[in-house]
Amino acid sequence: SEVGRVCYRVVVIGEDGVGKSALASVFAGSPYGMYADCDQWAGKDENDVYERTMIVDGESASIILLDTWDNQGSWVQEHCMQAGDAYLIVYSVTDRASFEKASELRIQLRRTRQSEDIPIILVGNKSDLVRCREVSVAEGRACAVVFDCKFIETSAAVQHNVSEMFEGIVRQVRLRRDSK
Ligand code: GDP
Ligand code: MG
Repeated sequence: SEVGRVCYRVVVIGEDGVGKSALASVFAGSPYGMYADCDQWAGKDENDVYERTMIVDGESASIILLDTWDNQGSWVQEHCMQAGDAYLIVYSVTDRASFEKASELRIQLRRTRQSEDIPIILVGNKSDLVRCREVSVAEGRACAVVFDCKFIETSAAVQHNVSEMFEGIVRQVRLRRDSK
């Protein structure tokens, strides 16, 4: 039923190339291989908005996912910082600079949304690339403790932990909603 239908705006942010669009395409239900290889995807403007309804803990939740961060002017990024009910801050476990960028974004977000307790998950993507790893699981976890947010490692390529990540963000929003 439409009663109790809840819609959350989730914004994906992070350095270029960390896999934000790949995660978004898994969310949207496109097999990752298609995203990577198919002309339909390759030629397309990667910045996009997706909507999907999921059942999490027996309750329905609609997520509007904004993958609008890359290659945008600073005013669009500023808007992204204001627009989300929740954030996925993504880095690549194979790219230390992207991990450092994630910290910067966390600080920027805190500054922009000072008085709000916004749900955030720090996401270490590309966990399948074992031999290229530059950031350990322990470092990712420690960073999330410092930044007072949740942490998960994902792989868009092998679709590991991607649905867990989206379920996690829904739970985080609900926890805050329920405590109000
Ligand atoms: P974005 O700039 O953050 O949107 O990153 P993209 O989604 O465009 O991905 C950048 C590159 O990383 C592409 O070549 C993807 O195929 C690749 N990629 C994304 N996620 C993964 C992953 O989990 N594992 C691996 N091995 N490659 C990935
Ligand atoms: Mg992208």
